[in-house]
Parts: sequence; structure tokens; C-alpha cells
Amino acid sequence: MAKIENPPRKPFVARGSSIERCPQCRVALDACICEHRGERSKPSCEFWLLMHHNEFYKPTNTGQLIRDVIANTRVFEWSRTEPCDQLLTLLDDPDYAPCLVFPASDDYVDRMVDTLPADGRIPAFIILDGTWRQARRMFRLSRYLQALPVIEPKTDRLSNYQLRRSTVAEHLCTAEVAIALLEQFGEQKAADHLEGYFNRFNQQYIESRRRWDKALRDV
Ligand SMILES: [Zn+2]
Repeated sequence: MAKIENPPRKPFVARGSSIERCPQCRVALDACICEHRGERSKPSCEFWLLMHHNEFYKPTNTGQLIRDVIANTRVFEWSRTEPCDQLLTLLDDPDYAPCLVFPASDDYVDRMVDTLPADGRIPAFIILDGTWRQARRMFRLSRYLQALPVIEPKTDRLSNYQLRRSTVAEHLCTAEVAIALLEQFGEQKAADHLEGYFNRFNQQYIESRRRWDKALRDV
């Protein structure tokens, strides 16, 4: 029998895609965490998320939690060749010191930094928000990012993110990367705020998922 080279793929239906979600926190309505969000924290740094387009629709995306609780967080959709003008303008803005957050490597050791500039510019941490595979691709292929300094968060944290298990415990999820950076640069209050909200999200999401799984089993 002839081998089928490209069997048709089944349409992708995300688990839980039929669940009605809160439009603000994106958790199922019965587990909404909005009341725990509080006023946005205002640390002296900013986060700019470059989000892979698949992440916009994933309810388990934690990058959006950063935007929910940290003031001035910006979210851009990543594009390999056509980054939006607003991002390019910001990268050239003398008021900011943009810095790409990524694991260290000998391949770009000359770009690695571990301190923030003390010249009054606002540190802007650019986090590549996608799976690790996507993030590596985004890092490698985005020419407009290739002149930026790179910072690896210094942290002993292991990932607590239970919704998407990585094979390597050290691979923090997007919100955990931001928490680690806030802690590293003395923004403990903002770090605690984001961590509290992240933990609440994690916990409520899992409980809600359990309830829905049980409801489906009981049908
Ligand atoms: Zn909500």
C-alpha cells in the first residue's frame, strides 16, 4: 500500500475551548480571579512581550498576567520580518534601555549583561512569549533584536507552573521570568503582587479544569 506522505491533520480543538471564560482574566467564569488583581504595580522597569501569535488564544498563556498587574506592560505580536512600527520606534527611543531576556550562551557572550544601565533610562525587559521552541526561533530569526543586550534572569526558582509542564524544571513560564527579574532588581513588592496573582491563576485554573473534567465524565 502506498505510504501517505502527508495525512490530513485533525482540526485542532483546544482542551476546554467550549468553556465560557471571563473576558478579563480568561479563567472559566466559575473561577474568575479578577477580584484578586488589585491596582497595577508600578516598578521602575517595564516589560515588553513579543508574543507568538499562537499564544494570544491560549487560556494558559501567563504573559497576559504580567500585563494585568504590572503597569506599562506592552504586548506585541511577534513577526519575523515585519515587526510593528511602534515596537521599532520604542527600540530606538533614548528614554528606554531595552534588553532581551534569554538564556546565556557562548554564541552571543558579548551581548550578555547582568546589570541595568545607571544612566536614567527605563529598563525594558523584552520577553519572547511562546513555547521554548518558538522562543528560540524568535530569538534567532528576528534581525531587529540582534543588536540588543541579552539578560538571563538569575534565580533559584524552579517552575511552579503546573498547566504546562516543561521537561526541564528550570524553564520558567513567562510570568515566572518576570517575577524573577523583578526580584533580581529589587522590585519585591511588584514581584509579590505578580506572584500572588500568578499562583491564584494557577490554582483556580486547575480547580476549574478538574470540575469540568469531572462534569464531562459524569455526563
Ligand atoms: Zn475574571
